Amino acid sequence: MYDAIVIGAGPAGLTAALYLLRANKKVLILEAKSYGGQIINASQIENYPGIISITGFDFATNLYNQVKNLGAEFVYEKVIRVEKNKKVITDKNKYQGKTIIIATGTSNRKLNIAREEEFIGKGISYCATCDGNFYKDKVVTVNGGGNVALEDALYLSDIASKVYLIHRREEFRGENKYLEELKKKDNVHFILNAKITSINGNDKLEEITVTNSLGETNNIKVSGLFIAIGKEPNNEIFRNVVNLNEEGYIMAKHDVETKTKGIYAVGDARVKDLRQLTTAVSDGSIAATRALKEINKI
Ligand code: NAP
Repeated sequence: MYDAIVIGAGPAGLTAALYLLRANKKVLILEAKSYGGQIINASQIENYPGIISITGFDFATNLYNQVKNLGAEFVYEKVIRVEKNKKVITDKNKYQGKTIIIATGTSNRKLNIAREEEFIGKGISYCATCDGNFYKDKVVTVNGGGNVALEDALYLSDIASKVYLIHRREEFRGENKYLEELKKKDNVHFILNAKITSINGNDKLEEITVTNSLGETNNIKVSGLFIAIGKEPNNEIFRNVVNLNEEGYIMAKHDVETKTKGIYAVGDARVKDLRQLTTAVSDGSIAATRALKEINKI
């Protein structure tokens, strides 16, 4: 029996664990992949109060070590079901908690076109700062119109020989300051009002087909395709214990409380105005404080 089972080892989940461990509670952290969440891919964090600049990797690793040293139990298994009585079922085991903290964040949205999965790591990437360096002096494409796509295109323009930025509309969702920087780059080419409709290659990505709003197609030879079309929550498995909004985010009242007593939702997984590191760790500390009251039956 654990006092708390935290599902997801990103900043929100690890902060919840930190607070619970410091209150001397027994905490299990279940993680499907590796610790750190999305922040581990951030090249630099410069908007976290009190830290002038730190890499995402260092931030995540410090937090992981902090929690590990306090005695957290980490288990790398994929959660497939949660029950109202706070039982958590993974692909391998079952665990019982007194409380559960859902901190599963979001995943990269997929284009959902043929061969996308097959070419991941063979030309397709969802993280320019992680994989950009593999494309030195090569031709790459970024797809998307938000801040991530604009930042990725800027980052890649210093590495690749040519960067195509493909967006499905004329207007960008991302900030103008990035757009203005991009326009100054000779090796960045904009393809607007267009979608990627097929990806081709033998054992790796070699070419993409782009279709514009008039239905005209264009084949472009590329070595890399960076997909930056936003994020999606991973909450379907929790539907029996939480309410989801139409986009699939967990609806929480009083910041982090779900419809099931003793089950909390924190970080990017829940409905909120601002998905940032600061708001993720804030959620984690609030949920831990509420969970402590539930565990101690105050
Ligand atoms: P985002 O702002 O939601 O943008 C996603 C982009 O992908 C949109 O331009 C959208 O097009 C496009 N898109 C969505 N689905 C698509 C599809 N199926 N096919 C083609 N295009 C598709 O996501 P994000 O860029 O990942 O950013 C996430 C959040 O983090 C945002 O709030 C962002 O501001 C924030 N962020 C901030 C910073 C910063 O402050 N420096 C840096 C990075 C991220 P439409 O525009 O047509 O909908």
